[in-house]
Amino acid sequence: MGESMYAYKCQTCGQLHHPAHVTCKKCGAREFEPVPLEGEGILLTYTRVYNLPEGYMKPFIPFGIVQFPNGLRVSGQMGTNDLEIGMKVKATVGIVKEGVGKDCYGFIFEKAD
Ligand SMILES: [Zn+2]
Repeated sequence: MGESMYAYKCQTCGQLHHPAHVTCKKCGAREFEPVPLEGEGILLTYTRVYNLPEGYMKPFIPFGIVQFPNGLRVSGQMGTNDLEIGMKVKATVGIVKEGVGKDCYGFIFEKAD
């Protein structure tokens, strides 16, 4: 995969942020260090979004909240419909549509073996 997603680690207290914040939500510092987010996480919860913007060619898209081993929780699109809370998922990065002509990079979680 050519693209990576990053968490932003506060250089003062180590708190991780995703997406980036201007100031640390824990200590208020403004210096951050990017930390690549990848590998496996645990699916905490998921939902199906049916009312999709134009541009999606599917009746619904599953979205999930995943916790990485470093404790950071992020939301992303699920690459599978075979979902179970607590399952292991693998983070990949792909194009997530956000409306007509608004493709952007985001997380897509696939089932991990
Ligand atoms: Zn901080």
